[in-house]
Amino acid sequence: MKYSYTLVILLVLPYFLVAQSKHDFRPCGNTEGRSDWLRTYQKQPHLYEKGADSTILYIPLTIHNVATDVGTGYFKGRALLDALCTLNADFEASNMRFFIEGDVNHIANTAYNIHETVLDGAAMMFANNVPNTLNCYIVSDPASNCGYNLPYAGIALAKNCANPSDHTWAHEVGHAFKLPHPFLGWEGGVSHDDSVEHDYNNPAPEKVLLNYTYFKDTLILDTLIIDTVWVELAERSNCHFAGDGFCDTEADYLSSRWQCTGDATSAVQQTDPKGERFTSDGTLIMSYSNDNCAARFTNEQTAAMRANLFDEKPELLYNQSSAPPIGDEPVTVISPFEGEITPPDASYFEWNAVPNATHYVFELSPILTFSALQIDTIVSTTSLEIGGLLNERRYYWRVRPFNSHTFCTDFSARFSFETGTVSSTHDWLDEQVRIYPNLLHSNDILSIEFGERVPENLLVNVLSIDGKLVHHQTFTAARNELQVALPSLAKGVYYVHLESALGAKVERIVVY
Ligand SMILES: [Zn+2]
Repeated sequence: MKYSYTLVILLVLPYFLVAQSKHDFRPCGNTEGRSDWLRTYQKQPHLYEKGADSTILYIPLTIHNVATDVGTGYFKGRALLDALCTLNADFEASNMRFFIEGDVNHIANTAYNIHETVLDGAAMMFANNVPNTLNCYIVSDPASNCGYNLPYAGIALAKNCANPSDHTWAHEVGHAFKLPHPFLGWEGGVSHDDSVEHDYNNPAPEKVLLNYTYFKDTLILDTLIIDTVWVELAERSNCHFAGDGFCDTEADYLSSRWQCTGDATSAVQQTDPKGERFTSDGTLIMSYSNDNCAARFTNEQTAAMRANLFDEKPELLYNQSSAPPIGDEPVTVISPFEGEITPPDASYFEWNAVPNATHYVFELSPILTFSALQIDTIVSTTSLEIGGLLNERRYYWRVRPFNSHTFCTDFSARFSFETGTVSSTHDWLDEQVRIYPNLLHSNDILSIEFGERVPENLLVNVLSIDGKLVHHQTFTAARNELQVALPSLAKGVYYVHLESALGAKVERIVVY
């Protein structure tokens, strides 16, 4: 059997978790105001193409997975799929879906992985951006934020803020399509730099100041850009030009992370410029409410994002057909079979393709629960070879299929094998042994014929295509030809595994 495979060289380097928890980060670094585009749009939103409400818009992402200089601390493959699954769920009601364009781009660069300022992040993006896609950089520390969006470059996202229950990615994508925070203007408090104390029990000023520097449509380095923003009234009579300019997002002045109450509003009461008291809506993804409150975009926000795509970013809409969904057939193992002993420096893995899957997350761990991974990689084949394992150890492995558009998939069952010394004449058995016939009926006799050398002991396992052992036999006397009486078998494909001190061999047979 000829294989094309990927050889994974293992870097055994300890990975110490040094990144902060998400509560050490600001929820978002954006201080983008209402862009010129949004101001124009909000005056006459009905004039803009948005596509039919029921038309799903497919948007390409380039995923940049960033680690340290020596390649430690990448965002795990499974975490990436989970985060993409959440991102698409957050946009489900907006009929917008995100797909991966090309392969995930792995970048080993400590200075990018932990960067101090959004300007450092801009440099990372300018050096790596792929045109005509939404570029998303998953790093350990994006300037002490959970995320930010630079209108002229891309999105930075903290690994610790991209858990399956987090909505930071959706929030930053909202910014990328020109949505401001509902509390727009309050990012630096009533001043632009948090220098002025404000007591929410007192009426808010009519206008607050905001520092837009670095969040304009182009990167402007030589000017501090500070502007005034009208404060939205609780009764929303000025909603068309105050705050975020949307009238179906309620007044909100809360620019620190906040926990919602049972009815998804803020515990903190605020006072508008006319003295009216109100609480904030915690369900908005664009607010700073905790992730367990945030769940939605409003109708006006959705309309603006769709209009922004058609009007300002039509280059993102180049491919509006989805990849076919992945079948729910279970992954079945070809090699190694359950409990097989494999060489620690070259263990070979192969499994049956899952319909419509183009890639697999491959995980290998010495721990039953996969809580620590020795191998975490993405392959576009259904096989790979791995070296660098410890000798005489039990390992567990599993794969998770996905394609460019389908991420909410499950892992395969957990499989196991052991490492140990296998004869170096691995190829001898493979080349010199004949297993026949390949086409046979149930209850037929399978013959195994040896060449010049005959193993003293031979283990014969016959496995069904879904990995179940259907026949097991051990031969102890050295003979040139052995006969295996197969049990009653259903029609289908089976794999005959031979194992001996002279090597191993796998042959495919068909019962018809
Ligand atoms: Zn934000």
